[in-house]
Amino acid sequence: GSSLGVLGGGQLGRMFAQAAQEAGYQVHVLEPDAHAPAAQVTATHLRAAYDDTDALHALARAAAAVTLEFENVPASALEWLDAHVQLAPHAPAVAVCQDRAAEKALFTRLGVPCAPHAVIACEQDARDPRQASLLPGILKTARMGYDGKGQVGVRTLAELAEAWNALGGVTCVLEQRLVLRLELSVVLARGRDGRIVHYPPQQNLHRGGILFASFAPGAELDEATVCRAIDAAHAIAQGLEYVGVLCVEFFVLGDGSLVANEMAPRPHNSGHHTIDSCDQSQFDLQVRALVGAPLIEPRQHSAAVMLNLLGELWFDAGGRLREPDWQAVLALPGAHLHLYGKREPRPGRKMGHLTFTAQQADEARARALRACAALGLAPF
Ligand code: ATP
Ligand code: MG
Ligand code: MG
Repeated sequence: GSSLGVLGGGQLGRMFAQAAQEAGYQVHVLEPDAHAPAAQVTATHLRAAYDDTDALHALARAAAAVTLEFENVPASALEWLDAHVQLAPHAPAVAVCQDRAAEKALFTRLGVPCAPHAVIACEQDARDPRQASLLPGILKTARMGYDGKGQVGVRTLAELAEAWNALGGVTCVLEQRLVLRLELSVVLARGRDGRIVHYPPQQNLHRGGILFASFAPGAELDEATVCRAIDAAHAIAQGLEYVGVLCVEFFVLGDGSLVANEMAPRPHNSGHHTIDSCDQSQFDLQVRALVGAPLIEPRQHSAAVMLNLLGELWFDAGGRLREPDWQAVLALPGAHLHLYGKREPRPGRKMGHLTFTAQQADEARARALRACAALGLAPF
């Protein structure tokens, strides 16, 4: 059919819908929030909870194939869709991505290194003196965390027990706090036929647990590291029998070793530059993988730096709402401004992103630095 469905109406759903519409598809979104970014651009907005039976039936009637932009959809909803429509990615692969403990178990099974860690499932685990070998560490809820939410730094066993209770006593993963030289991510797409295509990995800079900027290419990424990351991401996609767009985040440590951090079963914030820097964006590939169209290796035609535009930019020093100085930003060559149509700016909220393209990476960086200055962002 010529109709596609998406679970979740955030900015990723909006950019998926825009790519699908350009390819001639009608898009239906299932999303509880009336003012969600994707709801403003899609043909139909099914406004209900993700596991609402009537809404799922309506989506399955309207759309031949369904994807997601938000992985924390109840497993029951994904399993039902998997049985009734073409769902990409499939429910079992999403289930792994919903759970840090399952994710790390998969990495380990596939021989992909990850941070030393332990699952903290109960009070006894939280008080086990053997966890001392993982300290100082970061306690992360196994499920539902994003943008650094649901994470607490812990230095001592006493702090570990306290942090586990503060996080609600839910299943967590305690990870050793690693000294990171840099971060990178690989975005790939895998088709139903098993063919995988990928973008060159981008280097990512986080501030306060939230992605601040992505660099494609990254100035500090060497060829060997890039190859290892691509191989690991391919192994993960194959191991999951994955269908759709997948992002794997990696750390590079001081000794140059590579460890997998986590993955996302969808297009990823660090891949947003592909809209403006590549002949096919990560959302174009999501559409292709979903409908079973051929996947061809995307070609990056421009170097790019992407900056996230977080809600704090919408407040002046006195805490009053204001619009950022887009005139100054748009006067810079190679600027591509993307705003998501969110009504209420809040600190830490992703309101949009800004990509600078150029022929050379250092040129893209210089332009992005000028945008930082114009917007009042600390330079990278
Ligand atoms: P996302 O929005 O990417 O889903 P998240 O809330 O799932 O974020 P993580 O990716 O686990 O969080 O961590 C956020 C950032 O915190 C990482 O990109 C990295 O900068 C830092 N970080 C996470 N785990 C570790 C670790 N074990 N050692 C050192 N730094 C870490
Ligand atoms: Mg995450
Ligand atoms: Mg992350």
